[in-house]
Amino acid sequence: MPSDKPTNEKTQFVQLGRGHAKIPRSPVNPPLVRASTVLYGTVADMHETRALSNKGENVFRYGSHGTPTTFALEDAITAIEGGAGTMLFPTGLAAIAHVFLSVLRPGDHVLMADSVYRPARNLATDYLSERGITTDFYPGGHEEVASRLKPETRMVYLDNPGSIIYDIQDVAALADLLKDSDTLLVVDNTWGAGGIYKPIKLGADISVVAITKYIAGHSDIMMGSVTANERTQAALKKDASLLGQTVSPDDAYQALRGIRTLKPRLAMQEAHAREVIAFLQSHPEVDQVLYPGLPSDPGYALWQRDFNGANGLFSFVFKADVTQSQLDCFVDSLELFGLGASWGGYESLVMVYAKIPGWSGNQIARLHIGLEDPADLIADLDAALTKMRQ
Ligand SMILES: *Cc1c(COP(=O)(O)O)cnc(C)c1O
Repeated sequence: MPSDKPTNEKTQFVQLGRGHAKIPRSPVNPPLVRASTVLYGTVADMHETRALSNKGENVFRYGSHGTPTTFALEDAITAIEGGAGTMLFPTGLAAIAHVFLSVLRPGDHVLMADSVYRPARNLATDYLSERGITTDFYPGGHEEVASRLKPETRMVYLDNPGSIIYDIQDVAALADLLKDSDTLLVVDNTWGAGGIYKPIKLGADISVVAITKYIAGHSDIMMGSVTANERTQAALKKDASLLGQTVSPDDAYQALRGIRTLKPRLAMQEAHAREVIAFLQSHPEVDQVLYPGLPSDPGYALWQRDFNGANGLFSFVFKADVTQSQLDCFVDSLELFGLGASWGGYESLVMVYAKIPGWSGNQIARLHIGLEDPADLIADLDAALTKMRQ
């Protein structure tokens, strides 16, 4: 029977969200509950249920306010992230958008890292800007933030590590800088989902995760989460309810299933990635690998201090003379790497980019390493790197 006090994270991931199993003759997994209408027992029960819900408690009152299945997933993510509460959204991007919509007002200013997930940048430049909210993008590390803060800066927003270039920032130092102000610190924690990184424990106010990636783990569902601390959780939750945000219980069920194998998948995908990285680092076509878990990486010291592991995602930089058509030939020659957006599934992927904000170096390819045998992946990469030059 699941206990309330799991002894370590591996155990915790097996037990999370399974409070229902304290009742004898229960299924192992929280039941999949689909609902729009919820039937009340009596008028008094209806009033009591609504009163609890209006206080922000997760009670089963109407489908759009969640069902026992989505509550189980929210509780599991809150336990992993270490916040005061979690809300679910139909995509990772919708989760990011909710944070902006709920927190920001006309006249506010946002400081956003250059290396944020590209669609988050687009929200700032193409949506917030038209609604009286200005955004400045800062390069590099947390030292860049202090000099750019304005009296109206309401939010500092970053991915840690950054998208595609995987630069690491010191969230504890940022939290310290902002500690007595109204400026909220928001971290996209999709890379570190699954207990690898806990920004709220380091002082961030809000942690956003694209569940679509490692938590779902099988490239077949879209979902996002917002986990918030005591200071921000109630307002974000009230606004999510006002705006009618919810997710499908079927998808929540699958995401919860993903959590069961998240730790071993991450550990194996990190181990496979490290084998592939060792091959690439010794390959004459490769200039550099961008992965904070490497001692040669500029983010390594912070990664060691603040992160509890890595994953299967990294980029590598080609030598200077590789042309666009050679890059295209490399990608098209790969047989075991799918060419597609997203990552975090069980399968290997490759992606290339026309332009990467915050990066002025040589051509980059991003790899996501899956559960395949790394020897096969290395042979595939080796053949494609050879073919590229023929
Ligand atoms: C994929 C991704 C998102 C968005 O998730 P979707 O579910 O695809 O909308 C947000 N942040 C990061 C870092 C991502 O990689």
